[in-house]
Amino acid sequence: MSRNLNLIFLGPPGAGKGTQAKMIVDKYNIPQISTGDLMRAAVSSGSSMGDKVKGYMAAGALVPDDLVVEILLDRLSGDDCRDGFILDGFPRTVGQAESLEKALEKRGMKLSGVVAMMVPDEALLKRLTARRICKECSASYHLEFLKPKVEGKCDRCQGELYQRKDDSEEVILNRLKVYHDQTAPLIDFYQKRKALYTVDGNKKIEMIFSEICDIIDSLN
Ligand code: ADP
Ligand code: ADP
Ligand code: ZN
Repeated sequence: MSRNLNLIFLGPPGAGKGTQAKMIVDKYNIPQISTGDLMRAAVSSGSSMGDKVKGYMAAGALVPDDLVVEILLDRLSGDDCRDGFILDGFPRTVGQAESLEKALEKRGMKLSGVVAMMVPDEALLKRLTARRICKECSASYHLEFLKPKVEGKCDRCQGELYQRKDDSEEVILNRLKVYHDQTAPLIDFYQKRKALYTVDGNKKIEMIFSEICDIIDSLN
């Protein structure tokens, strides 16, 4: 029987959750579930869910718990999540964490661990204002820290790179405030459950990756 790896990546916007999650997907073969990506897809498709969430996202506010939980639990029922998953950007409130806990219990599933990436706000601002995202696979790049091999094109899939509208300084500052007010309490929440593993996210990408792999290999 294969070992289940049910992970949460926790951290402020720009901490490197998506960057590290994509590397973990390649190494451990479990899917990355980004609620931000799922909701951006809903917005682009013009679905009624997309209409409901787009105003919150544009302002850098959190989408209401009931909507995000619905999207997340639906995705978690996917066949590809049977051996494990990485939640990237979920939960972001204590309410979401409690909903997840109940849902996992009901399905006979258990969290393996929560990896919290810590990065100071000044560094986050520098990362997010120069972030570029692949339109096709949502990989992150940076104009200075992680340049694509060919300008404007994704190394992984050749997709076109774009700048997210909410990666403007004004919206970033709001997202950071929202993180400190509503998401940072989750550090305590998971520490109490002895599920928390903290990494210094203010290092080189490869070094953080190797620390996260060590944590994953130490689980169970
Ligand atoms: P980042 O990677 O920069 O943290 P995300 O792509 O995770 O950004 O999220 C973008 C936006 O989507 C958030 O600012 C918020 O509006 C919404 N969002 C994503 N995940 C959640 C969540 N779990 N709960 C509420 N809102 C969310
Ligand atoms: P998150 O998913 O947590 O919002 P991303 O993975 O999208 O964060 O990373 C945010 C930005 O910072 C991207 O431009 C990315 O290329 C860059 N980045 C990621 N990790 C690092 C790192 N360790 N050092 C410098 N820049 C990084
Ligand atoms: Zn791509």
